[in-house]
This record gives sequence, C-alpha cells and structure tokens, in this order.
Amino acid sequence: MLTLKTLLRATPHPVRARALLQCRTTVTRAILETDEFGNRRKNVAALVRATDGDRFCTIMFYDPAKADLVQSRVWAACSCPYFCFNVETVNALHKSCDVINSNGELPLIRNPRMIPHFCKHLVALAKFAIVAKAKEVDKTAPKQGHRPKPEFGEGPTAPTKKLPKVKQYTKKPVKPAPRPLAKPHQPLKKPGKQPARPWEK
Ligand SMILES: [Zn+2]
Repeated sequence: MLTLKTLLRATPHPVRARALLQCRTTVTRAILETDEFGNRRKNVAALVRATDGDRFCTIMFYDPAKADLVQSRVWAACSCPYFCFNVETVNALHKSCDVINSNGELPLIRNPRMIPHFCKHLVALAKFAIVAKAKEVDKTAPKQGHRPKPEFGEGPTAPTKKLPKVKQYTKKPVKPAPRPLAKPHQPLKKPGKQPARPWEK
C-alpha cells in the first residue's frame, strides 16, 4: 500500500492544478473503524463537485494514529472516467485501490509508465480528508432499532413492544333524526288601513 504523499507527488501537475481550480468538496462521511481483517482505518467519503460533473470519492487511511496523515498508507477510489481509465488498475497493483469501475486491463496507452497517482477529485479531497474529524464507529454493536434475525428453525421472535388494541368496528343502527316540529300556524296579519288610492280621492 502506498502513502498519500507518494500518490499526491506522483500526480501530474495539470491534474493538481485542476483540483484547485475546478473542484468543490463536501465531506459526507468521516469515521474511525476496523475493517474485516482487523485493521484500523479512518474512512472519509465525499461528494466532489467539479465543472464537468459530480463524483463520489473515498480515501481510507490505514495508519490513522499517525500524527501526519500525509505519511499514512491509503486506499482511495473515485468514480470518474480519468481514475477508471488511467490509474485504477495501476493503484490496485499497489493495493491502494481495487478494480471497481474498470475492466482490470492495464492502461498501456494512457499511463504507459504505470505510475500510481490520483485524479483531480482525490487530490481535492485529500486535504479535507486529513483534517476531517472522524467519529469512532463500533461495527459489532447492533444498530439502534435493529432486531437480530431469528435463527433457522427458531420461528418468529415475539414482538418486543405490545401493540395497542385496535377497537373493533361495529356497525351501529342509524337512528333517523327527529323531524323538526312544524311551526304553529300563524294567523295572517290583519291588514291595517290601506292608504287611499289616488282614484278614490
Ligand atoms: Zn476522480
């Protein structure tokens, strides 16, 4: 596995310049964890927005206790075509990456000297990954709200929380609404004295 310093130094100057000019980085994950082989690592992921699109990058420091993380061995990957076609397989030979997006063929034309290095996105992420505050994550602890799967043949586990009883719905006979009482008959108003009609004058 190569160190971050080695990979950054081997990155061509134009690529490093593009990292400065074209990329904006948003760190989406920074955790301290133990991998499946028991190695401690600082795992930093980010969304890197460049002028030619958004890419997802990951840098994992395998010497997280080092005072200067530039000297730490790293595993790094990016989803961009440059990384896929120029360096992914070469970095994978040095165990600083895995064959993820490429077909695993060596970049005989694009990187004939087989120099492991970074793409602009990873260069942009590197400085943020070094300073990112990582939270300790215990992978063995069960997640909150997670219920262990029942063993084979054990049958379904009893629910931990009793559900409230659901009120049974029964159809109630509908009573016809009482009809409003008829208003008592009101006698017609007695007509008062009519004004004299003009022709009667
Ligand atoms: Zn990239």
